[in-house]
Amino acid sequence: MSENIEVLLEEKRLFKPSPDFSKKAHIKSFAALKTLRKQALKNPEAFWAKAAKELHWFKPWKKTLEWKVPFAKWFIGGKLNLSYNCLDRHLTSARRNKAALIWEGEPGEVRTFTYQQLYYEVCRFANSLKHLGVNKGDRVCIYMPMVPEAAIAMLACARIGATHSVVFGGFSAESLRDRINDAQAKLVVTADGGWRRGAIVKLKDAVDEAIKECKSVERVVVLKRTGQDVGWQQGRDIWWSDAVHDQSAVCPAEPLDSEHPLFILYTSGSTGKPKGVLHTTGGYLTHTALTTKWVFDLREDDTFWCTADVGWVTGHSYVVYGPLANGATSLMYEGGPLHPSPDRFWSMIARHRVSIFYTAPTAIRTFMRLGVDYPKRHDLSSLRLLGTVGEPINPEAWRWYRETIGGNRCPVVDTWWQTETGGIMMTPLPGATPTKPGSATLPFPGIDIDVVDKDGKSVPLGSGGFLVIRKPWPGMLRTIYGDDARYKTQYFSQIPGIYFTGDGARRDKDGYFWVLGRIDDVLNVAGHRLSTMEIESALVSHTSVAEAAVVARPDELLGQAVVAFVTLQKSASPSPELKEELRAHVAKAIGAIAKPAEIRFTDSLPKTRSGKIMRRLLREVAAGKGVRGDVTTLEDFAVLAKLQSDDE
Ligand code: ATP
Ligand code: MG
Repeated sequence: MSENIEVLLEEKRLFKPSPDFSKKAHIKSFAALKTLRKQALKNPEAFWAKAAKELHWFKPWKKTLEWKVPFAKWFIGGKLNLSYNCLDRHLTSARRNKAALIWEGEPGEVRTFTYQQLYYEVCRFANSLKHLGVNKGDRVCIYMPMVPEAAIAMLACARIGATHSVVFGGFSAESLRDRINDAQAKLVVTADGGWRRGAIVKLKDAVDEAIKECKSVERVVVLKRTGQDVGWQQGRDIWWSDAVHDQSAVCPAEPLDSEHPLFILYTSGSTGKPKGVLHTTGGYLTHTALTTKWVFDLREDDTFWCTADVGWVTGHSYVVYGPLANGATSLMYEGGPLHPSPDRFWSMIARHRVSIFYTAPTAIRTFMRLGVDYPKRHDLSSLRLLGTVGEPINPEAWRWYRETIGGNRCPVVDTWWQTETGGIMMTPLPGATPTKPGSATLPFPGIDIDVVDKDGKSVPLGSGGFLVIRKPWPGMLRTIYGDDARYKTQYFSQIPGIYFTGDGARRDKDGYFWVLGRIDDVLNVAGHRLSTMEIESALVSHTSVAEAAVVARPDELLGQAVVAFVTLQKSASPSPELKEELRAHVAKAIGAIAKPAEIRFTDSLPKTRSGKIMRRLLREVAAGKGVRGDVTTLEDFAVLAKLQSDDE
């Protein structure tokens, strides 16, 4: 790893929480937050133990933390059940009849589950899993559309102590096969299909294809969703409705060890081969429950909508477990964001009176590109808080989000975290933290994050380096499933003994953190280390640009030259003049050194299925080489093929 990253982008706008918001918030002032952070940093164990006590434990823990680098255990000796915490706990109060899940299918149907109803469904499905031979400790693969049954299956696994591995329903049969085999899943829960952009995604077909080569799978439970004919293997396959038919609604939640494996989840694969991240029970729930409450400033009457698919960690932590542990109402949507028309999200916010909305920068940039007319058609006044996660958000997109969707009224929480971290790590707290567009601001209390040089020394404020986490935290991954060695080298070897996130970041003079993107993507131009995020943000701040991805290509003179792939706003058209204008714009905004040597216009960028730009593929395209890396997580192969053919 080489020297520090230079700082070019300077964002001066500051947004303070409104006094009205702060007054009602869980954490009411920046001063209060600072005190909390200071105390928690001094004694993180006490801080997290206090949060854990908010949960229901069958048996209290004896020891809060055991840290044998790099292996952590939290709340040792304690016994709890995650599904009990998400369901049973809420049945003794008026919450019993509160909506736990509100679901909207892509074709438009709506189903609502109260806590009592969800409990009933989870218990019955948990009993059917047992009946089908699933025992505590077995792995269950969930390959489902975004339907309530996906959440029900997760909660049912958690109830009996089976470890779930949710595989995003957009993955191919091969990706599914590899994940089933890696986890050695005994049972697969799927559906005949799901709706996406008006078409049926045939999940059962993919399962049939995948498990030809999966010896571990004994049974397949199939939910009827889309209704087309599907292949059937007697004795192995069973319809969901038949599986639950005779099952009792009494299924006591199994008291599980705090360190019992809750789930395996594969990372999104932006940087390479996905990793099977393993999370356990007590620490994970403590982390997700508290962050949901404070970061989204949850109140009893909120309708919380996190648009992530349950196939990603955001869907695990902030569609299902975090909100339900807090007794909140979580909205879940099955289909495409632009279906049947680009105002689908805004229409849903208006119809369900959503108050908290949490989405990804990729979605925000898409909406920006489509213009303000779509959101303007709907009444978005129910919103009181906006969130983003997944990639660095360009200041321009942040500003657009706050203004156009939030009506300049809603705080924006830019939350930095990873599949590996289990829950949010760095974020503003909406009633307390003054925000700066593009910055995830400061670590959550109890989280010790730093920016360091290659020797692990903190860099001075104002400069950039490697983003690391110094101390263990409750939601941290425990290992890469079945591969402790990879766990160690992946996360704890660059800077020995300290968790390295893989991201670069800088801190400004106020101590705020700016995530600069992946370290592997950092450019080295004539000896200057430049971050992709800053150059991309400079491009996106031009009125004609909707989205940009910047990579380096080898250059004899400079070492590396900057190549920018640019998607224009709907209203703009490509021209050689515009290329020159954009190059000049970057030079003016952040400096001549960052000026792209080459600009390529493209209608779309290669992204992972969770919507992240895959710069490693663009690097190969820019270098004029064939793409050789792992492309199994690529969303749309046509995009890449097109970029490569433009090259010829
Ligand atoms: P892989 O590890 O397989 O390459 P991935 O890192 O894309 O996949 P995730 O765990 O889903 O998989 O993504 C976490 C990464 O997303 C972070 O390391 C960071 O690069 C980026 N990220 C997430 N949230 C933010 C944010 N708010 N600001 C900046 N970057 C973010
Ligand atoms: Mg990652």
